[in-house]
Amino acid sequence: MPKPAAASLKETLTLKLDYEQLTNCMRCGFCLPACPTFQETGVEAESPRGRISLMKAAVDGIMEPGISFENQMNHCLGCRACEPACPADVKYGQLIEQARDAVEVHTRQHRWWIKGVRKLVFDQLFPHQRRMRLLGKSLELYKKSGVQALVRKTGVVGAFSEHLSSMERILPDASGKGIVERLGSRIAAKGEKIGTVGMFRGCLMDVLFTETNMKTVQLLSEAGFEVVIPDTQNCCGALHAHSGESDTAKQLARNNIRAFQEAGVDYIVSNAGGCGAILVEYDHLLHDDQEWQEAARGFAKKVMDISTILVERGRPLNFADREAEENPIRVTYQDSCHLRNVMKGGSRPRQLLSGIANVSYMEMEDAGSCCGSAGIYNVTQPDMASQILEHKMEKANATKAHYLVTSNPGCLLQMKLGIDKHGRSESMKAVHIADFLFDRIVK
Ligand code: SF4
Ligand code: SF4
Repeated sequence: MPKPAAASLKETLTLKLDYEQLTNCMRCGFCLPACPTFQETGVEAESPRGRISLMKAAVDGIMEPGISFENQMNHCLGCRACEPACPADVKYGQLIEQARDAVEVHTRQHRWWIKGVRKLVFDQLFPHQRRMRLLGKSLELYKKSGVQALVRKTGVVGAFSEHLSSMERILPDASGKGIVERLGSRIAAKGEKIGTVGMFRGCLMDVLFTETNMKTVQLLSEAGFEVVIPDTQNCCGALHAHSGESDTAKQLARNNIRAFQEAGVDYIVSNAGGCGAILVEYDHLLHDDQEWQEAARGFAKKVMDISTILVERGRPLNFADREAEENPIRVTYQDSCHLRNVMKGGSRPRQLLSGIANVSYMEMEDAGSCCGSAGIYNVTQPDMASQILEHKMEKANATKAHYLVTSNPGCLLQMKLGIDKHGRSESMKAVHIADFLFDRIVK
């Protein structure tokens, strides 16, 4: 995006920030205990109240926003745990997006490699599904060709960076073939048809977790839904919207709305909390676009998470772990922040997991608190992300669960990383809820 020479960050903040929302904050501090960055640091400026005060002070001209202002905006995970805790219903998620949008126009603090990662991810990769498939194919080849075995044997990545070595160990079974190439774009309902679901396949989900996408579709079919997967859909735009790239996010949203409108579906289902949360807020994202406003509202109303639709609309399914008849297995759940705080869908995965025969559900302490994944936060803010993850794993380990279940690909990778670095890797496995449920359907 070209940087306007004349406007200062203060002026851009004044233009972009919703001043009414800034003044709605009554400084009560109820949000502080819910905020992971405040919990980790104890610093007011690292809290929702602190960040809102900084935004308001900048707009009011009390403070010149500089590098430390930018840092505080970028340190926020965007998990939105502060919103349900707020008695004044301050729309913090919107404020932080507006602030980051402004910061991105004037930014001076991204290091060269962060700029490179952002450019690659936001412009060159995620919006282009064909390139995502190429990435999937390359990772598949890396694993199957023996290069991965060689890399591990020689320990070359570990010599370079222990963190990178851990990331390499948790690489999922990527694929160059997405769900449409595997199942086609229309899958019939099993038994009597209840309705038609449009499956949001996700750009990352479709190449890194194709099996999970397939199991999601099969769960929907078993629950009585015909599933349509429009091939013209693209990335949801969540990472763009949360990182100050709102123009690209809006364009991606318009494409998706068009794709699902043409498919003529009753529901739009996502199996990734991070994607679902922006899909459900397309009406907000396009609120100033007269031409697309109404279509965006119609789209947003149809969006549901896989767990929610199974519980609330689907034909009830029976689940059991046949291998655990003698010794029930323990399972715990790490919330996807966006499924819990934005889509308000945190209870449904717990309900499904608690209803599986021979499985005992253990609630983890602070399961609703962010795991530190947060889009590309664990890449751009590795120190804070690692600190949060380490504390998360202490709580996960305390459950002694055999399975750590999540509802979002970013959280799933972060949990795998956590188990690898700090966990009980011999006895605990991180899995997506769609995989966990599908493998235990009783037919
Ligand atoms: S979004 Fe999350 S990290 Fe950011 S202020 Fe709110 S609770 Fe804290
Ligand atoms: S809970 Fe809401 S009103 Fe209270 S300080 Fe936090 S954001 Fe402001």
